[in-house]
Amino acid sequence: MLTWKDILHFATKGNPTPTKRVEKTDAEWREILTPEQFRIARQKGTERPFSGELCSIYEAGKYHCICCNAPLFDSTIKFDSSSGWPSFTQPITENAIQYHKDISFGMVRVEVLCNSCDAHLGHVFPDGPPPSGLRYCINSVSMQLEKSEK
Ligand SMILES: [Zn+2]
Repeated sequence: MLTWKDILHFATKGNPTPTKRVEKTDAEWREILTPEQFRIARQKGTERPFSGELCSIYEAGKYHCICCNAPLFDSTIKFDSSSGWPSFTQPITENAIQYHKDISFGMVRVEVLCNSCDAHLGHVFPDGPPPSGLRYCINSVSMQLEKSEK
C-alpha cells in the first residue's frame, strides 16, 4: 500500500516504471478525444466540481484512462470525499500513476498523471481516510468506468 511518504519519494526522486507506454501527438489525441477530454487530460484542465458523471457512481468495476485505456483505479478503493470529484485511496497498481510536484496557483500540490500516456488526472492529497491516508482527487472526464459483470 502506498503512503504519502511513497508519493513524495516518487514526485521528487522519480516515478515507477509503467507496464506499457503510449505516446501520441496532440493532433492524434485530438482525433480520439472530445474537446473537453482533450482540455482536461492533455492540457491539465480541471472540471467543475460535482459536474463529472463518475462523481456519484459506485458500481463495481475498474476505472481506465480516457486516453490510452490503461487501468488506473478500482471501484473498491473509491470513496465519497464530498469534494465534487471522484476520490480514491490507492491506485490499482503501484506503477499505474506518475507523480509530479505542481506549484501552480501559488500552492504546492502533487499532480497525478497516467503513467502510460501522461494524461493529467488530478491531484493527490495526504488527507484521505485510513489506512493509506491518501486522497486521489481525479477528474471524471479523465476516466471511463469498465463495469464488472454481475
Ligand atoms: Zn493513459
